[in-house]
Amino acid sequence: MLEKKRDTPEHGELIVCITGDIDDFCSETIECLARYFSILHKNNIRAELFITSKGAEEYPERIEYIIKQHHVIGGHGDVHIGFHQSLSIQIERLKTMIKSFYHDFDLNIEGFRSPLHCHNQNTYLAVEKAGLKYDCSKKRFEIVFKRIPFYEKRYIYTKSYPIARPFLKIIGSVYNGYNKSLPFPFYITPKVLEFPTQGITDYSLIVDSQGPRFSPNEALKIGEIWTECLIELKQRGGGVMTLQAHPGRLSPAYIASLDHFIQNALKLGAVFSTPNEICHRYPG
Ligand SMILES: [Zn+2]
Repeated sequence: MLEKKRDTPEHGELIVCITGDIDDFCSETIECLARYFSILHKNNIRAELFITSKGAEEYPERIEYIIKQHHVIGGHGDVHIGFHQSLSIQIERLKTMIKSFYHDFDLNIEGFRSPLHCHNQNTYLAVEKAGLKYDCSKKRFEIVFKRIPFYEKRYIYTKSYPIARPFLKIIGSVYNGYNKSLPFPFYITPKVLEFPTQGITDYSLIVDSQGPRFSPNEALKIGEIWTECLIELKQRGGGVMTLQAHPGRLSPAYIASLDHFIQNALKLGAVFSTPNEICHRYPG
């Protein structure tokens, strides 16, 4: 047991993984990706992008570009449709995705995030049976703002937030406990490591009609909200914050949000990694 724990993230460690999904490459042009990566490169950070094999087949030069820039590619399904089917169909879909990346790019896909986080109990076993090593389909909340009236629109930018914060934290704990979303990666099946993804995403803050719908000139506010979640994770004893920051949505108009968050995370003592890299630190 002691042997198994060595080299894996320790209690108190604060690790951030910058991840983002690419559904179809409609908005993720080379220019968009280059701007996104430029923020990461100046801090020597690698991203992990979860991409559908259909998108990869249609835009091979963009996949080649991501590989050349030394970022990690994970699977986001064969097509951008949720994983709520039977076990056998889900295994088949994952195998189709894996084969496509291997055939077209010589890439061994090891990780998965379900489209729209839409998955069921079959998914974890399907991920294992397809031969993948880790999954990022679950969500986790350090502080819950989503679906909480008033706070969902204003987040940390309300006068009453300091009073509400302890309660919003408790709701987060209840959510994480009920959904078994732990702060550190954990084995969800005997062979699949789960990395719950931070539930406050760029979608929640920019697109969701119930959210604040921040405009590009408010991009720093997004970085501050993510920082607030990271501070809470640190206060709870550390963990891995897997951030969902879509290149197609953030770059270029909202890219300052990511830059601001990274600078704050560094000040908090966080180190950056990828689910892929962390997974390789766990004994198989
Ligand atoms: Zn997606």
